[in-house]
Amino acid sequence: MLTIDGIHCELDFDAQGKQFGSIDLRFSNNEFAFSKIPVPVVVIKNGPGPTLLLTAGNHGDEYEGQVILRRLIHEIELEDFTGRLIILPALNYPAVLDNSRISPLDQGNMNRSFPGIEGGSPTSAIAHFVSSRILPLADAGIDLHSGGTTAYYLPSTFLCTTNNTELMHQNLAMAEAFNAPFTYIVRGENSASGFDPTAHVRGIPFISCELYGGGNVDVNATQIGSAGVKNVMQQMGMISEQSECDMQTRFLNGIDGSYTLSASFAGLFEPYHEMGDEVKAGDIAGQLYSVEEVERKPLELEFEKAGIIMARRNGARVIRGSHLFMVSAAMSRDEVLNLM
Ligand SMILES: [Zn+2]
Repeated sequence: MLTIDGIHCELDFDAQGKQFGSIDLRFSNNEFAFSKIPVPVVVIKNGPGPTLLLTAGNHGDEYEGQVILRRLIHEIELEDFTGRLIILPALNYPAVLDNSRISPLDQGNMNRSFPGIEGGSPTSAIAHFVSSRILPLADAGIDLHSGGTTAYYLPSTFLCTTNNTELMHQNLAMAEAFNAPFTYIVRGENSASGFDPTAHVRGIPFISCELYGGGNVDVNATQIGSAGVKNVMQQMGMISEQSECDMQTRFLNGIDGSYTLSASFAGLFEPYHEMGDEVKAGDIAGQLYSVEEVERKPLELEFEKAGIIMARRNGARVIRGSHLFMVSAAMSRDEVLNLM
């Protein structure tokens, strides 16, 4: 059993076998006087070996990862692997129940709530329990995201930089083992409230990923994510089967090579490009139409810099400031290594 004041988990994390349980957080508001928030947790252990922490539902409206982990929980048999899987398929459980990015109980964005606060609001208290009780059990971790209701991403791994060179190499090796089509490099050192940097501060190799989105479950992205988890288990020596993929991930520069193209007035956006397209500075991204002023000439929006479209908006109606496309420059593996 793991416990801190007001929150505990009854599971025996050292027991052999497949156990289903929850991290129970005491909670009281006008609607629920004496209740608990049961964040689902599954522990699957077979013999000695490393521990891999797998999470999804950090944002409640991102579904590919939630499906990947729920499927893994039911499909994997003890004889399939050695070591331990700790799986939280609905990390911000109130947000998952609400089909929303953030928690309806406290408006908490889980990925901005780490390392969390003991006795804090529900989102912060869950983040604190995971940071202080679950993360120390793990040898590595993967947090599965996707674009959420309003965005799509190219299936990609997010690799946060860290000041720890050895850990950075471990994270890179894990991202390359996961082998999503793209690996997006972002600064992690200064984002203390993220899940990845919180794991890195504790010396634990950790990556996250973006697996499509739009409030749907994409077939291709789900296969990429499922294979990625198995590839990392294989890299950690937990499973022995050889994957037969010779594709190599391509790196994208999220440090100083990315930008977001936004709408300049409220209207209806017609995109001219799809995700994965390589665009040049000055290429027309699409046209923005006024909904009410039909006589108003549509505005052509241009890409500001060259790169690969790695994310796009889901939803044709926009307001001033809505993101339309995120574009990122490619980065060589040597350039990634030079960051270390
Ligand atoms: Zn997310």
